[in-house]
Amino acid sequence: FVNNVEEFFTFCEENDVQFVDFRFTDIKGAWHHISYRMSAVSAGQLENGLPFDGSSIEAWQPINKSDMLLKVDIGTAFLDPFTADPTIIVFCDVYDIYKNQAYERCPRSIAKAALKHAEDLGIADAAYFGPENEFFMFDSVTFVDNINEAGYKVDTEEGEWNSNNPYPDMYNTGHRPGTKGGYFPVAPTDSAVDIRAEMMQVLEQVGLEVVLGHHEVAQAQHELGIVFSDIIGAADNVQKYKYVVKMIAHLNGKTATFMPKPLYGDNGNGMHVHQSLWKDGKNLFYAPGNYANLSEMALNYTAGIFKHARAVAAFTNPTTNSYKRLLPGFEAPSILTYSSQNRSAACRIPYGAGEMATRIEMRFPDSTACPYLAFAVMMMAGLDGIKNKDIPVGPMDEDLFELSLDEIRQKKIPQMPHTLRGSLEALIRDNDFLKPVFTQEFVDAYQQYRFERDVFPDEGRPTAYEFKTTYQ
Ligand code: GLN
Ligand code: MG
Ligand code: MG
Ligand code: MG
Repeated sequence: FVNNVEEFFTFCEENDVQFVDFRFTDIKGAWHHISYRMSAVSAGQLENGLPFDGSSIEAWQPINKSDMLLKVDIGTAFLDPFTADPTIIVFCDVYDIYKNQAYERCPRSIAKAALKHAEDLGIADAAYFGPENEFFMFDSVTFVDNINEAGYKVDTEEGEWNSNNPYPDMYNTGHRPGTKGGYFPVAPTDSAVDIRAEMMQVLEQVGLEVVLGHHEVAQAQHELGIVFSDIIGAADNVQKYKYVVKMIAHLNGKTATFMPKPLYGDNGNGMHVHQSLWKDGKNLFYAPGNYANLSEMALNYTAGIFKHARAVAAFTNPTTNSYKRLLPGFEAPSILTYSSQNRSAACRIPYGAGEMATRIEMRFPDSTACPYLAFAVMMMAGLDGIKNKDIPVGPMDEDLFELSLDEIRQKKIPQMPHTLRGSLEALIRDNDFLKPVFTQEFVDAYQQYRFERDVFPDEGRPTAYEFKTTYQ
């Protein structure tokens, strides 16, 4: 790992690097790349930026203003573990040459600006984020087999959809976890031990600190535990994590997906996000003696996220599929309260954390979020809560999945929106808290992009289930 341009060239020479792969992230969180021949890369480019066509990226530049620059973050360079020839990958920010500033639709630049905003307010000088990205791993061939001519995944037996089983009457229950039975019998029921091991080893090679790996609750669902990082480092790690998980699955004849709810009737994929703010090396969320050792500021931050949660969800739960996960009974909470240990609340306070580790865990986000935008938006909402000294509903330690809708209303517990349309409409009304960092132009473009790309095409499409329930 290198610190400057000089070290970069030395490292490349020592490792016989043939290609430099410049990578950047768009507003839906997709990772894009351009590979340069090593011989064509100059120190000047690494210092001042490389030109690329910004009009080919969804919701970015119009064709008549398509020239943009990639500004290299040299300290992020690492060797690609998957290419045949030695290739070095480096994270980039996007720069707007027309306005001479960081591009207002570059998620990585926005996350940097959000941290700077926390500093400018005098509240914090560091923000730590610990995302947990769950995923499913399906057999590549049968995953395709289960898609019918209309392009829908085929629902076999009611409640017993199984990606590995194209023939429901020949269902083989031997050595398979049943619905919600994945967490966590040993092999051979857990058939992915070696693949997860390979993923964890390669993740370490590319610089992530790996703690553990395990089968998750649903059939064919998995999670690997990664150590938290600062806001940019943690979002960069999500990009590396998804890349490595998908590549190792692919090399093993599997398909990994971070889709929030691929299987009806079983748990979905979350991206829980652990968060804490720090100043002068001190954890601002820690106050011993309080409920779960949480400081007043931690509660204000949590309340800020809850207050704006409907708009926040447009970024943390940005697809129509996101809302199929947020239903009671699947450990993916939509009830906006907090609790220590309770996995049915939107915010859990992990048990027994000391001075260094006291933090909040937001449980509603999922991996269809662009990590840079999701972290930045939650932090902006949290900072707004701190400024206004907001207090969240709670703590509530009972199982909230047992509450009826009437009880939820009676107790005035706010809830997450139930559709992407609901979140986007909330974002249109509630975006002042983003203003210090997000331009109105970007918020408008984002909201329009999500309506056109996700909401309208989904609302207009008949689903497999409608074919089953429509009699006329
Ligand atoms: N899969 C659950 C979710 O969607 C979380 C399960 C867990 O990690 N305890 O959030
Ligand atoms: Mg976990
Ligand atoms: Mg989990
Ligand atoms: Mg968790």
